[in-house]
Amino acid sequence: MDLSAYRKDFPLLQRTLDGEPIVYLDSASTTPKPQTVIDAVTAFYTQHTANVHRGVHLFGEDATQKFEDARAEVASFLNCSPAEIVFTKNATMSMNMVAAGLELRPDDEVLLTALEHHANYLPWRVRAKVVPVDLGLDGTPQWSQISERFTKKTRLVTFAQVSNTTGVVAPVDAWIAEAKKHGALTLLDAAQSASHLPIDVKALGCDFLAFSGHKLLGPSGVGVLYGRRELLEKLTPFETGGGMVATHARDHFELREAPFKHEAGTPNIEGVLGLGAAVRYLRRVGMANVHAHSRELGQQMVEGLKKIRGVTLIGSATDPQRIGLCTFHVNAGGMGQADVARYLCSAYQVLCSGGFHCAHMLHHELKLEGTVRASAHLFNTPAEIERLLEAVREIAV
Ligand code: PMP
Repeated sequence: MDLSAYRKDFPLLQRTLDGEPIVYLDSASTTPKPQTVIDAVTAFYTQHTANVHRGVHLFGEDATQKFEDARAEVASFLNCSPAEIVFTKNATMSMNMVAAGLELRPDDEVLLTALEHHANYLPWRVRAKVVPVDLGLDGTPQWSQISERFTKKTRLVTFAQVSNTTGVVAPVDAWIAEAKKHGALTLLDAAQSASHLPIDVKALGCDFLAFSGHKLLGPSGVGVLYGRRELLEKLTPFETGGGMVATHARDHFELREAPFKHEAGTPNIEGVLGLGAAVRYLRRVGMANVHAHSRELGQQMVEGLKKIRGVTLIGSATDPQRIGLCTFHVNAGGMGQADVARYLCSAYQVLCSGGFHCAHMLHHELKLEGTVRASAHLFNTPAEIERLLEAVREIAV
């Protein structure tokens, strides 16, 4: 799958370091933005600055139309109704909104994996009883444990569709089916997957889904919560304030319908417009093409890293759906993993993450002092992956 024609759309990738082109392999943290996203944000500032759902003048109407167009675009991307899309700050906020809005009791059980990102672990942990699926020796969750973990108190099941540490795709259909059998709600953490694979929430049958704009070629500070219509109507709002009430008198107030009852205050308008442009861009490329390309680069990374002495790869090396994301430990003669990532940048112009990637539990359980994570996207090339592999070969001992 050759997507190299799209590379020129990303101004950030034109940057050089020490006269050399950069190799951006940190998209799991946040992605570069295509020009069309930058243009959408800029146009809001230069052409139609106005508040949404409030201003009755021309600019207000224009901004509101574009804002709702972005909602429709995101809805179509996920195959749901615009009324089922709530704009939030990020995936973290989306998950906190569900955790708070379900009004969980301390003995309610939330089934997840020990691999979850802190954003999909702590909001449950602080409000309810978390019941994690254990990890295998390579960090892959032992999915077969799911069925044994359900009890009468299981309120919700939540997993990352694609782990931000292993890049592996979870058996989502199976666990959603299992959750339904037990009458539990389901939330899909799509912070990584939404940017790499086609998602159809109706086909998946999940109740909630969360992702962030900034990992999906869009701006920071904007995220999405998908919720089935009737559940969004029932969910208690996380915040109260302007824009979310139909009426407010001395003795009562009335909430608006979803999604507006969940969007108190002036939203991140430019962020939403940028996210709409990002989704439009990705749909033009085609999510099946993005996934095919991501898989190919992932395979190249896995095969290359497996052969390097002193490198330990996290997660299954054999998942054919695995995206272009590899987390690995490099034995680098006393250098810590964050130092390895820093050195990859300063000596080889390869930009990766180094540390714990908001997955401390995984590192504790595998007894690792940290890891390096290389994560590709549609603009990366096989030659760039080779540059990463050559650099790691030189560093590893
Ligand atoms: N879940 C996963 C799987 C992630 O990778 C991330 C971000 N690294 C999050 C949740 C949280 O995303 P954000 O920080 O944008 O809210």
